[in-house]
Amino acid sequence: MEFSSRARQRHARLAGDRREQYPHSLQFYLEPPTESISLVEFESFAVDRLRLLKVIENLGVSHVRGSDVYKTKLEAELRKLKFPYRALVEDDYEARRKDHISHFILRLAYCQSEDLRRWFLQQEMDLFRYRFNELTENLMQKFLEHVNLSFEALTARSLPSIQSDERLQPLLNHLSHSYVGPDYSVQNNTGKISLEQIDALSVKSFPLCMRQLHRALRDNHHLRHGGRMQYGLFLKGIGLTLEQALEFWKKEFIRGKVDADKFDKGYAYSIRHSYGKEGRRTDYTPYSCMKIIMSNPPSQGDYHGCPFRHSDPELLKQKLQSYKISPSGIAQVLELVKGMHFQLACQKYFELTHDVDDIGFSLNHPNQYFIESQKLLSGGREPKKEFSNSGNFQQKNNSQESINSSSTPTSSNAKADTELEGLEAYFTED
Ligand code: SF4
Repeated sequence: MEFSSRARQRHARLAGDRREQYPHSLQFYLEPPTESISLVEFESFAVDRLRLLKVIENLGVSHVRGSDVYKTKLEAELRKLKFPYRALVEDDYEARRKDHISHFILRLAYCQSEDLRRWFLQQEMDLFRYRFNELTENLMQKFLEHVNLSFEALTARSLPSIQSDERLQPLLNHLSHSYVGPDYSVQNNTGKISLEQIDALSVKSFPLCMRQLHRALRDNHHLRHGGRMQYGLFLKGIGLTLEQALEFWKKEFIRGKVDADKFDKGYAYSIRHSYGKEGRRTDYTPYSCMKIIMSNPPSQGDYHGCPFRHSDPELLKQKLQSYKISPSGIAQVLELVKGMHFQLACQKYFELTHDVDDIGFSLNHPNQYFIESQKLLSGGREPKKEFSNSGNFQQKNNSQESINSSSTPTSSNAKADTELEGLEAYFTED
């Protein structure tokens, strides 16, 4: 009895403390969290919030904000990811804690550049607006009194101390261009594509970034290292075997200024390396959209990158015109580009080039684009739910991917980092 009574008291005290910490499920995130959490929880909170913000971005351009369908879909996502989903109705300490901590983790990840800040703020504002509008007038008033509307300058000031934490900084760097989706290093269709098919496939089923690289390779018989990395790993992901890749690149390069001997000595090694057949045998995975968009921007003479992010809008317009996209379609794409919704612009391009009204999936990866296109064109696509992110989170907290790197090892550790530098060196030759 005594034991249960003490336990009850402790429980009541704890519940009181918790209520005090999060009196409302809607938060203004005035104070950063101070408790210690495990790296596992840190990462899972961050990934869930990133998923949530991507859903918000997607909904924000597909539906009128505040419309019934917008609200229903957003509430479903909040509920699924276990964030507070109906502000101030439920008293769920864990959901509020997750909301609080995950917001600050992403704040750290997304305060590192103006582009990232803007994207993060937009999605957080939309989330806040949705939650706030769900409150009754009385609760709105209570909430405003509680937060007192005071404002303190930005998270970026915390960065110097965070940057010295070698466990957290890599994760924060990765988060802002992290990829939440299937692992395209698993090649189910290896060897099923012939080299003769690539020209046709590049027009029908390649996303714009890869179509552009393919065209440049055919025109110039050469690609600089950023392009070779981006395109080579994509081709590997769609199923080219090592032997096919060697043949493909060699045939094209020796039509230009590289002779067969130079190709075999320099470029062939790097291709075998990217297939995990040289050096430490690290298997490299194709780049995700976030990686292409956020890292290693192209300079003069480069063709890599994401055309929706890196092309001049006028050039992009001309390119889309040359691909016979309708003027209204081009206008929609350019509008999305203007709002910095690059992946959504790519989804629109998919819809326009495949003549479908709704892409039916959330685009995160050029190889996903290819697979979905092939499924659609072969009539084998199953209807999919929006944002079925059942895959893995590719950039784990110990991943070596960073803004300046240009490949993503499947298994990452210090050795792989050294290996990455090796691969970079081989590919650095123009
Ligand atoms: Fe390529 Fe992704 Fe950009 Fe589309 S959004 S062009 S798939 S990088």
